[in-house]
Parts: sequence; C-alpha cells; structure tokens
Amino acid sequence: MAYGGRAARSRRHLLLPVLHAVQDHAGWVSRGALEYACRRLSIPPADAYGVASFYSRFALDERPPLAVHVCDDIACKCAGADVLCEALERNFGPPGAPIASGSAVWYRSPCLGLCDRAPAALIERAGGDHAEARVAPASQEAITAVLAGAWPGPEPAVQQPHDGLRLLRRVGVVDPESFGSYVQAGGYTALRHALELGPEGVIREVTDAKLLGRGGAAFPTGRKWDAVAKATARPHFMVCNADESEPGTFKDRVLMESDPFAVVEGMTIAALATGCQQGYLYVRTEYPTARKMIENAIAQARAKGFLGTDVAGSGLTFDIEVRRGAGAYICGEETALFNSIEGKRGEPRNKPPFPVAVGLFGQPTLVNNVETLANVLEILNHGSAEYAKAGTPESAGTRLFCLSGHVRVPGLYEVSMGTTLRELIRLAGGLHEGRSLRAVLLGGAAGSFVTESQLDVPLSFEGTRAIGATLGSGAVIVFDDTADLEQVLLRIARFFRDESCGQCVPCRVGTVRQEEALKRILSERTQSLRETDIALLSDIARAMRDASICGLGQTAANAIGSGLIQLNMAGTN
Ligand code: SF4
Repeated sequence: MAYGGRAARSRRHLLLPVLHAVQDHAGWVSRGALEYACRRLSIPPADAYGVASFYSRFALDERPPLAVHVCDDIACKCAGADVLCEALERNFGPPGAPIASGSAVWYRSPCLGLCDRAPAALIERAGGDHAEARVAPASQEAITAVLAGAWPGPEPAVQQPHDGLRLLRRVGVVDPESFGSYVQAGGYTALRHALELGPEGVIREVTDAKLLGRGGAAFPTGRKWDAVAKATARPHFMVCNADESEPGTFKDRVLMESDPFAVVEGMTIAALATGCQQGYLYVRTEYPTARKMIENAIAQARAKGFLGTDVAGSGLTFDIEVRRGAGAYICGEETALFNSIEGKRGEPRNKPPFPVAVGLFGQPTLVNNVETLANVLEILNHGSAEYAKAGTPESAGTRLFCLSGHVRVPGLYEVSMGTTLRELIRLAGGLHEGRSLRAVLLGGAAGSFVTESQLDVPLSFEGTRAIGATLGSGAVIVFDDTADLEQVLLRIARFFRDESCGQCVPCRVGTVRQEEALKRILSERTQSLRETDIALLSDIARAMRDASICGLGQTAANAIGSGLIQLNMAGTN
C-alpha cells in the first residue's frame, strides 16, 4: 500500500500485529522478540517498548502460556465477581502471580463486554500456530477447571431475549458464517441500491434520515460523510470503530458475532460514498469470537466479489483489514485509535484538525461505529422517510441498549428512540422478586446515575440531555437495593485511574486524586473532613472537565458525582 508521509512510508503500522503474533505464539513478548521486531520494522527499541508497555494485554515479563482474565467490572461485580476473585486468590494466589503448577496465571480485568452473561472471563492460551482465546461466563468451578488445563466447551450462541425491531432482526435467523444465508435474508440489497444512487444520493439519504452516530458522540452521520467525500486530499480511509470498551456495553459484539456481513456491507457503502478504497475495522482483543466472525465475513465477501478491485461489478475498489486492539479503553477515542493502527501509543490527538481532514496516516478519514453502520443498511433498504418514522424528531430510528446488572433478563434490547427507561427495564423482565430499585447507571462509566424518579425519561439524545444524563454507548446497568454502590463508585474511579493515557495533567493527576478523595469520603466518619473532600472532588471534576484533551478526562467525574448524590453524600449542584 502506498500513502504519503514519513510515518506512513515505514512499516511501523505493523507493530501491533507483530506484537500480537509474538504473544500468541509464546505467551509473552520477550526483550529479544521486541528487538527483532524493531530491526525488521525500523523502529527504535525504546520507542517500541513505550508502545508495547502502553497496552495492558501485552505481557512484557515471562508468564505461563495460559492466562485467565476475570472481569471484576460493574456488571460482573453485581453478579458476584468479587466473591469469585477472592476464592481464586485463596486457592491460586494473587492475581498476576503464576499458580503453583506454573502452567497458568489469572488476572483481574476491566469489562470484557459479556455483561449479559456476567460474571465473565477471557481465557487466552498461547501456542505456536494454535493460539486460542475465548470469552466465557465465569463460575468458580469453570475457572478452576480452566486453570487446571481444561478448555471451556463450545461458546453458547448469542442469546437474544427480545425480537429486534430492525438491527437485531437477523440475530439468530441468519447464519453468521454464511454469505449465502446473509444474501438469502436480503443481504447486499442496500449496497446494490447505494451503487444505483451514487455517492451523492447515498449521502443525501443518510443526511435526510437524520442518523446520529451511535458510538457516544451523536454527531450527524450524513454531515461527516459529506465532509470526507469533499476532502480533496487523497487517499481517504474508512475506519470502523469496534473498540467497544465502555463498561456495560456489548451491542457491537452482538452485531459482529451474529450479523457480521451487515457490518462489512455497511463499511462498504460508507467507503464507496466517501471515496475510501481502504478500510480498517479496529476490534478490541477481548472480542476473539467477533474478530473471527468478521474476518470470515470479509474473506467470503472478497471471494464473492463484494470487496476488492471491482466491488459488486461496479469497477470500484474497497477492501478491509482487521486490526486488533490490545487492552486500552482510550483507543475507542477516534484519534487514539488512529495512533494505535499506526503502531503508536493510543494517545488522543488535539482537535482540530478533525479526522475528516487529517486522520489516519494524516489523510481524510471516515470513522463510524458498528451500530451506526448497521443503521445505514436500514436507511438504504427502506428510504430515509421510512427510517425516520421510528424515534423522535431529533433522534431518529431505533437504538440498541445493553441491559445488565439486577434485571431478570440481561441482554441486548432494540427499541425506538424515545422509549422510556421504565419501559426498557420492563422489557428486560424488571427487577427480581421482592427487590426495589436503587439506581440506574446510564451510559456506562462515562455516563451518570439516574434515580427511580427519573425512570420516565425518554431514551433519546434530547430526552436524556434534559435531565443532565447521556445515552452514551447504550449501557444501562440497573442496581437494586442489594447493590453496594460505594464499591461500584470505587471501581469506576479505579477504572478511570487505570485507563487515563497520562498525556495531559488534568486527567492524569485528576483521576488519581479523584480516587484518593473518594476513598476518604467513603471511609471518613467526620462530617467536616468529608465536606472538605467533597469540595475537593468538585474542584477536580471541574478541572478535568474544562482542561482535559479528550472525552475520557472530560467525563471521568460524571458517574462519581452523580453516584455520591445517590448516596446522599453530595448536593445536586
Ligand atoms: Fe489521555 Fe486523559 Fe488527556 Fe484523554 S484526557 S488525552 S485519556 S490524559
């Protein structure tokens, strides 16, 4: 591939794939392997070490070939992850230390995106060309068996508790491994229609549908596509952001695992409309099954002529390369993701310039979330007017919500925008018998807590904004009266402390000070000391919100602040 710029001329962008290959083979990245990679890729060793050590899933010290990562994040905490981790610690020693047999090691992990089947674990087994990885529901018996050498049985199929209105209607109906099954269910009619409409017609349809991005920022998709299409610099790149790492979020995993051809078709339409010939799908490493499904779908689409140099006989060129994250929440931020693909630390860039002008490899780049692309198929198949019939005037269409925590039927639910939170929880079976609602965390760790009195909030961009909340990534974590909200807040504070990329001071220092102040607030018994720390927390929150480079720092205090209100420890202003 030839593109401009010094960095792009190098092979540096291969650094993460090479590190993954080394770790898959040997179980860890030795100094010798890193130095060899540096020689082959012409990267200074100190620079490459800085990259490798940035990503939490790369092991730079020797470890056993079997690694088990047990999620102790919010939804798994609700499902007993702490008890599970304590038992593992008693039986196998502390996390990060090889177990007595020397054959395995276990770790605590942030969210693995299996919140509907919590508690969950990611199991990785290195071994030459036979490396394997699996995310599986975790019980003490299951993890004990895995640490003893047993490999978990076949992964259960995606459980879909609710009939999808639009995006989920193929889940469980289409064989996700079969191109023919997808075509039989109407697959690739949207692409054919897009080719008839031409780039301008496609962008007009997407704009008229008022589609807003589903990754969290809610930017108008049509406007973004138009800006990339009009960018004069060449080449353009298309990136599908599948680095779904927000705690409590698993919608993109379900789409990729159960309807991967739709993601590939959506990327193809987006690329052809905006003049991109090369696409990247960046998927978090914690989603091995989704990655497998997407890689298979890309290979089949290419073999059938729906990717490559003559897409569907149009004479147009587009192809997709899958890139694998390595355990960094911040890489969900679009410019951090570019840096990661380019083989660098996943640190966000200052904006402007915006990606539509200067993005991946310094070129105009279109970035869309998986769910956003799935919506594009609906728009092209049914027309923008029909699409916009669902939802509200400001928030068109349907939305995927990830229900987890203390609901009877956790899972992925698709409802029209504007459906109330109360109705959504009812769809998920409500609370367990005899329990009462404590709070709901809307939008994941970067979101905020809402109360029982706010359950009638319409789940639309404008509806949640009106109560000072956000839809964010569609995570809805429900807590009943058994929940230990103090522990949940401490977990969120630790999450942000761990995940701050450290590039800017307000976030790097603020997330650490926030956790320290929260610990004191939750343990101090004198009112005056507590009030001093609550005032400090408020100052830290303001500094992070106003002066951080990216959304991580800007939102790192939201859940903590609203959670303390739930605990009656802070005022509402
Ligand atoms: Fe990094 Fe935090 Fe600054 Fe974002 S706000 S660039 S995560 S230090």
